[in-house]
Amino acid sequence: MHIDIITAVPEIFNSPLQASILGRAQKNGIVSIQVHNLHNYSPNGRIDDYPYGGGAGMIIRVDVVVAAMRHLQHHRQYDEIIYLTPDGHRLTQALLNRLSLCKALLLIAGHYKGIDERVRHFVTLEVSIGDYVLTGGEIPALVLIDGIVRLLPGALSDASSALEDSFQEGLLGSPLYTRPREFEGLRVPDILLSGNHQAIAAWRAEQSRLRTLLRRPDLNPNLFHDEVPLPPKLAEETASQLGKSGPPSQEEEPS
Ligand code: SAM
Repeated sequence: MHIDIITAVPEIFNSPLQASILGRAQKNGIVSIQVHNLHNYSPNGRIDDYPYGGGAGMIIRVDVVVAAMRHLQHHRQYDEIIYLTPDGHRLTQALLNRLSLCKALLLIAGHYKGIDERVRHFVTLEVSIGDYVLTGGEIPALVLIDGIVRLLPGALSDASSALEDSFQEGLLGSPLYTRPREFEGLRVPDILLSGNHQAIAAWRAEQSRLRTLLRRPDLNPNLFHDEVPLPPKLAEETASQLGKSGPPSQEEEPS
């Protein structure tokens, strides 16, 4: 896969693209990622201007963005040209799964007050990473890239790992433990030490289902129907665990 990014602030990408799984995936030829400085596509280096109609903030010029896009499109055909914007399609695992099958993506990160509205005419997809506003599209682009790259074959050392994570199959992931076996009275569940792989897989599946029911029932409405009832002890234990650290209800959510 190849990913191009158009941005007014290329330096934001330096460290995140070099570290850990993203850095290794590029070194191993699983993905190539190129960051393009928007300033290079303006004849006078100026990429923004005052808003028509007045108001606060500077707007990135559509002609400069489209000049950058056209330059890149001259060299490559993109499966999607994605504008990161708070009012785009909310990013989901399903969308990441779909984008991970693409060969080439072009990402456009806004900055300042945003990009001239007319840029939407030239993109194929608009993506938001959530209902909040950040200073620029660079971090949203990194979120998108990270979510995609970890799905590419060879990016994770164990290919099945990403498939067991939350949101695949409409479920949250199961609890994770490592050494020590006991920490300040908190014990690793015995089943994980049993060596019985079938029983461990069944326990993990059950934990996943229970966690989804308790925390995110909206992810998988079918969980409420056609499933065998939970063993009462397990339901009780996990409910009390989740009670301590579980998500606040909508009313309790901090503002
Ligand atoms: N004026 C815009 C609005 O009201 O929606 C907000 C612009 S924001 C300050 C500047 C840039 O950050 C946007 O053009 C977009 O590229 C990026 N951005 C901010 N929040 C984002 C989000 N939640 N998802 C995707 N991109 C975002």
